[in-house]
Amino acid sequence: MNAAPDSLRTDGAAIDGTWRTGAGAMLPVVNPVTGAEILSFPAAGIAQVDEAVASARRALPDWRSTTPAERGACLRRIAEQVRDARGQLEALQRLCNGKPAAEARTDVDDVIATFAYYADLCERGAGLAPQAVALPDASAGAQLQYVPLGVAALVVPWNFPMVTTAWKLAPALAAGCTVVLKPSELTPLAEIALIDIVLRSGLPPGVVNLVCGAGAIGAALVGHPDVAKISFTGSNATGQRILQASGSRLQRVSLELGGKSSLIVLDDADLDAAVALAVGGAFYNAGQMCSATSRTLVARPLYEAFVERLVVAAQALRHGDPADPAVDLGPLISAAQRDGVLARIERGLADGARLRCGGRALDGAGGFAVQPTVFTDATHADALWREEIFGPVACVQPFDQDADAVALVNDSDFGLVASVASTDRERAQRVAAQLEVGTAWVNLPQLVFPQTAWGGFKRSGLGRELGPWGLQAFQELRHVISAR
Ligand code: NAD
Repeated sequence: MNAAPDSLRTDGAAIDGTWRTGAGAMLPVVNPVTGAEILSFPAAGIAQVDEAVASARRALPDWRSTTPAERGACLRRIAEQVRDARGQLEALQRLCNGKPAAEARTDVDDVIATFAYYADLCERGAGLAPQAVALPDASAGAQLQYVPLGVAALVVPWNFPMVTTAWKLAPALAAGCTVVLKPSELTPLAEIALIDIVLRSGLPPGVVNLVCGAGAIGAALVGHPDVAKISFTGSNATGQRILQASGSRLQRVSLELGGKSSLIVLDDADLDAAVALAVGGAFYNAGQMCSATSRTLVARPLYEAFVERLVVAAQALRHGDPADPAVDLGPLISAAQRDGVLARIERGLADGARLRCGGRALDGAGGFAVQPTVFTDATHADALWREEIFGPVACVQPFDQDADAVALVNDSDFGLVASVASTDRERAQRVAAQLEVGTAWVNLPQLVFPQTAWGGFKRSGLGRELGPWGLQAFQELRHVISAR
């Protein structure tokens, strides 16, 4: 499939509940499996960013006055309508990201689960209904109130379109904020389809607005003086730029940024299970994951056997038509991303790392795929070991003591996630408890639940998404202390 469905909208903006033709530059959308353009359409213009923020601002007083239960009913309807439209949404994920069928399905499941989770919180009033606060002074009583921050700018990248959007949109709406969303310029179609569903779910006009476009549209949005909250997922370079620019206005900012994450294979691990974790951690979504475990640390007694099996498993991954259930490896998102990953592989070779498999673009398809690649013998100072690659590249190192593995994991500018493999769960949990990361998995692939927080230590970002923490990111707190 190289054609978008006829029913798909290609309007560059949704403002005040109505779709608008974009007034900006043409935005080409490319199929990364073939390299062919799917379609192009005009992005939003800068003036439309202002209109979108004004629309969100007008809608704010009524929306923040709704009860949590009313907002929960909207979120519940969105979850149900996404479920009804899952066939179309999965097809768009395959078309625009080249995601294999199972990965496209998982993304849509995640979107449904996220809206359903925040619908639950709203229905229970959890973190939303005012609470009495016990005071030691009988002459005073206090109430804690949760106040929506206001207009929120949501800016997301291309690697998990719709998922990163749902992680921001559902809690923002639950909190009582109104929003302007800017999807990635590389993958706007999935978000256009999602927002079309959201707009048809009965939300009042202006509560959710969309502007498509590249970095300049994102910069105009987050720099708008009427934006109270910025929730950004993307690269460290952009995140730092946003943080600096927002400093003078003291806007509230959440940042989900990069990672350089590790899988630790302890000496008692089941080798096949550990290899499966390594394959998923490094090659799922073609390695285009902020949480990619692109560093694999293997206890020395298992090291050679592990590398051998990892190479066999990597070479067995099949690339091709994402609709084919036998395909399990997608392409990179663009020629630029592919070339960047290949440059990092070249740099690794020049620095003396040993290539065990892969290392080249995948020929034949015309798209942007790169072979699953395994390196060993990088030094701990090499860029290959220290910097995010955002492609299907794993780097394996041996270690001797558990403490050495912990030290190697923590020797990073980033701290998003880590995984531990061991047949001794308590030992693995002891190791996990020492890791400077936001999420650690023990003997599990990278399962993400809306109930658990997402976000990292150090340069992996600021704040947390999902769970009650994702809701708090869109709230101010007010205490009203009264005489009794
Ligand atoms: P990017 O920073 O280039 O772009 C992200 C989004 O920001 C896009 O929508 C882009 O148009 C917009 N943007 C660009 N310049 C902007 C500006 N000056 N002001 C406002 N918005 C601007 O990142 P990308 O290349 O799309 O995504 C890849 C990066 O994102 C990787 O580094 C990855 O680690 C990171 N990422 C992190 C997470 C996480 O949860 N921590 C998740 C996904 C991706």
